[in-house]
Amino acid sequence: MNAVSHAVTEPARLSDTGPTQRPSGRQPGPGGSGSSVEASRETRPPKVRAEVRNLSFYYGQNRALKDINIPIADRQVTALIGPSGCGKSTFLRCFNRMHDLQVGTRYEGSITLYPENVDLVGRDIDPIEVRMRIGMVFQKANPFPKSIFENVAYGLRLRGMTRRSLLAEEVEQALRGAALWEEVGDRLHESAMALSGGQMQRLCIARALATKPEILLCDEPTSALDPIATAKIEELISTLRAQVTVLIVTHNMQQAARISDYTAFMYLGELIEFGQAGRIFTNPAKKATEDYITGRYG
Ligand code: ADP
Repeated sequence: MNAVSHAVTEPARLSDTGPTQRPSGRQPGPGGSGSSVEASRETRPPKVRAEVRNLSFYYGQNRALKDINIPIADRQVTALIGPSGCGKSTFLRCFNRMHDLQVGTRYEGSITLYPENVDLVGRDIDPIEVRMRIGMVFQKANPFPKSIFENVAYGLRLRGMTRRSLLAEEVEQALRGAALWEEVGDRLHESAMALSGGQMQRLCIARALATKPEILLCDEPTSALDPIATAKIEELISTLRAQVTVLIVTHNMQQAARISDYTAFMYLGELIEFGQAGRIFTNPAKKATEDYITGRYG
């Protein structure tokens, strides 16, 4: 990726922000803004992996995102919550330039990826290159009609990896990382289409992890799954923070409360409130957030 033309800027600190506040100031930490949940989650302040600055997004004349500012913490889970149609998926899709596939769309502002200091929505960045670095998992599992092995090896082959032994190593590592190896390690050459829905979704996570993405985007990854498969994916996402930065869209607030370190509440294309999950769910600063998390609308 071409980083040459980008001025070096400092990442923001991970403090709570609202729609009109710019991220700045305090680092979160034990005893920072409150609850024991936060204290247990925050033993050391995380670094910022990406910073969203004044991001607006347009579908033609429709401004679906309005001037969003959020720091994305490195190797933490950041959840986006809010009622249907508030722009969560639109926001997520800016990170891997999915919108470029649709004519008449436009970005304003920036998403700076650190430490490379590149603007993911910058005009001079190749969207295909961005998609190689930012993994994505969708609402409905979408394995290729190929073997389990070939699904996971797909991105590695695209990047030119041909040595069978190396591919096998990487595939195993990705399947272990997605908590699927124990279930499929002895049938890698069977069709991925024969897996259960939950297994397919973990396979898609393994496929995304295989190429070691810098950020993993998850767009309601459990909404098509039963409660047991959902619990497995939630547990998996909680462990993934050891290896990758996760950005997840969910309309399930309990899920966001369970698995996220940071939570952003969006409404009508605006960021209403952002902060440590423990605080957002126990002591929201904005009435709109409180109304949403207590089920008054949405
Ligand atoms: P959410 O993920 O919170 O449900 P979306 O990001 O899907 O919200 O939608 C935000 C707004 O953008 C809505 O008004 C929706 O109608 C519009 N929108 C979403 N996807 C498209 C698209 N592909 N083309 C045009 N408008 C879209």
